Amino acid sequence: MLPVEFIDMMQQQLGAQAPNLFHALEQEPVTSIRLNDKIDELSFDADIDEVPWHYEGYYLSERPQFTLDPLFHAGCYYVQEASSMLIQRALEQYVSEQSIVLDLCAAPGGKSTLISQYLGAQGLLVANEVVRQRVFILSENIQKWGNGNTVVTHNAPSLFGQVMRNAFDCMLVDAPCSGEGMFRKDEQAIADWSMRTVRTCVERQRSILSDAWDALKPGGILIYSTCTFNRHENEENALWIAEELGADILSISMDPEWGITESIAGYHCYPHLVRGEGFYLCALRKHKKDFAPFRPRTSKKPNSTPITADDRELVRSWLCQPDEWALRQLDRFITAYPMRHKDLIDYMNTQFLCISTGFGLAEERGKHFAPQHSLAMSKAARLEAFAQLELSLDNALAFLRTEALPIPNLPLGLLMVTYHGVPLGFVKNVGSRCNNLYPNEWRIRNL
Ligand code: SAM
Repeated sequence: MLPVEFIDMMQQQLGAQAPNLFHALEQEPVTSIRLNDKIDELSFDADIDEVPWHYEGYYLSERPQFTLDPLFHAGCYYVQEASSMLIQRALEQYVSEQSIVLDLCAAPGGKSTLISQYLGAQGLLVANEVVRQRVFILSENIQKWGNGNTVVTHNAPSLFGQVMRNAFDCMLVDAPCSGEGMFRKDEQAIADWSMRTVRTCVERQRSILSDAWDALKPGGILIYSTCTFNRHENEENALWIAEELGADILSISMDPEWGITESIAGYHCYPHLVRGEGFYLCALRKHKKDFAPFRPRTSKKPNSTPITADDRELVRSWLCQPDEWALRQLDRFITAYPMRHKDLIDYMNTQFLCISTGFGLAEERGKHFAPQHSLAMSKAARLEAFAQLELSLDNALAFLRTEALPIPNLPLGLLMVTYHGVPLGFVKNVGSRCNNLYPNEWRIRNL
């Protein structure tokens, strides 16, 4: 049952169209995925249809049990609500691929993986999540996506405004909201909704925006989005940003056939008009003025341990283009991160709580370095550097449950295991047993 106040509010906002929205909220939600360029085709049978505003987005006619598909765990696609893929349109129109982008409210990482893909090898993404329980799934999804162009941080928005002034070309604030767009996916969203929640959300959204605002360069692009319908958290906030923080609202080109509704400020996806859930999006350009460009200078150096020449040579041999990656050892671990953004990333590691930086390359085991699991997920891995073993579906699932692999006559030593040719991780056959090196915290449970 929809809350009465919500019904009144939407009747005022949508007039004669409101009953269509209420009817749509009683229908089954739509399932969609966005493909990673790790694969060309899905490993399961499905009727698929293209999401018109994202070239890698697909609707599925039925929701499969994704947990049973090893390629899901290998980051070959992200199960992402179609409407939220619309931020691609704002990126294509206003943000260059060389940009430094901050995704301020990033977990679980749907939009971060999209931005990471958009930026590719040139740009840098900082994906931040302030809620501790949510930051690890963000980091996991980023590692699985495998681009290595992302730093995952766990800090309050205000720290960005304080120590990263004018650093970002683009900032996405996909704000915590009252979640009206999730009503048909999540009963709890209906139970939690009230006008009081809406007002609390507006206050929180404005404080997030103003706390982080100084981190965006003058002339930089703010993408503000929510998964709610009401104008208080959407248009009124966009107009407040324009007026109080100083920005111009931008128009985003959309095909009229998509059914997206342009409002006085920004764009709505309403589920009675669009094949997707409720979503709101507004792009703004921060007013231009003279400014001191951000220089990542600090007297502090990020903690590190020197890497010996032999170890460096070994771990670089696991990378396709080793010169593209800066390496840093901390305790037993070596991390690889984009050389072209080294100074900025080193600076961030002195100021922020960085949960992951680029990707985990190697881990000291005994006297030697062994590859970390993240290397198997990374597109930078030189696959020929490792002996490979293609697994059946049953064995791939056993591997993902961290079980011993029931395969006779395995070659000895370290093996990269694959499914449909895509790396899933590593095992080490020591003769008497075969150690499964899949991260315990990522293993499939309850199946
Ligand atoms: N962008 C994410 C995605 O596409 O997967 C979804 C983000 S969700 C709409 C909003 C996020 O904001 C949540 O992860 C939530 O934990 C976080 N959040 C909650 N309170 C916050 C605050 N005060 N400041 C910043 N982020 C906050």
